[in-house]
Amino acid sequence: MLGTGAAFPDPDRAQSGILVTLNNGATYLFDCGAGTTHNMVRANTNPADVTAVFLTHLHHDHICDFPLFAITGWMWDRKMPPIVLGPKGTKNFCNHLFEGGAFDADFRARGDYPLRQKNLNAIRPDVREVSPGLAYEDENVKIYCDYVEHIPREISECYGIRFEAEGKVIAFSGDTKPCENMIKLAMDVDILFHECTFPESFIEFRRLSGVGTHAHTSPRELGEIAAKAKVKKLVATHFGHFESTNQVIKNAAKNHMPVNEMGPHVMDEVVKDIKNNYDGPLQIAYDLLRIDI
Ligand SMILES: [Zn+2]
Ligand SMILES: [Zn+2]
Repeated sequence: MLGTGAAFPDPDRAQSGILVTLNNGATYLFDCGAGTTHNMVRANTNPADVTAVFLTHLHHDHICDFPLFAITGWMWDRKMPPIVLGPKGTKNFCNHLFEGGAFDADFRARGDYPLRQKNLNAIRPDVREVSPGLAYEDENVKIYCDYVEHIPREISECYGIRFEAEGKVIAFSGDTKPCENMIKLAMDVDILFHECTFPESFIEFRRLSGVGTHAHTSPRELGEIAAKAKVKKLVATHFGHFESTNQVIKNAAKNHMPVNEMGPHVMDEVVKDIKNNYDGPLQIAYDLLRIDI
């Protein structure tokens, strides 16, 4: 788990990112929120070695680190362009980053070195906008995806993922409220990685405050999903800063959350509520958590 937080810069959690490493060393990345590239290096993986990145949707906490990830791969001698899978709009996002984009000065300055010219293709991502079904396949993996329900689709399609490799299957929800498509993607998987952004007690506050999306999955709903999909293990992630003790976050969150109720104890409520509906193995994710399947 490279990042297990949500939209705020949280000192205790990087934004969304999951790295999958196969036995043969092939690596795949789901989401690339702020802090995930640093944590990838902490986890002893070179960004240049990641074959493909799947961006589940275009909220900043899922794509913020992509420029750093891509430029690092280029500097660290990536041979092939990174494959980028994502919703409609991913091409537009990537096309405005490097050559002629926001990082054009970096592209031209760094590209001045003969060594960097040798692997210029590393900074020209191979972007493939996906549609529901089989999104990607190589000799190692099959990645299926389908729409989940989080942002109005005309603003950004949001995808959930089912990933098959080496006889094992995992699923990742991206961000979503409970939906049938996600249950289908997660059916019988070895591990379901699912968002669990806000506890039950914070959701009503957010609804009344009118701030922020509430198209997320609550712990009770997550338990129901995991039970319906008969997952062999559940990993809850994408936590919306409700356990933070950081004063800057607490001050900033006062319109979004009942700040007096924030703190590490809230995670106990989350666990209890998930277990209310799901009695299988449960892991609460934290940054740099490694799970062997
Ligand atoms: Zn998010
Ligand atoms: Zn989102």
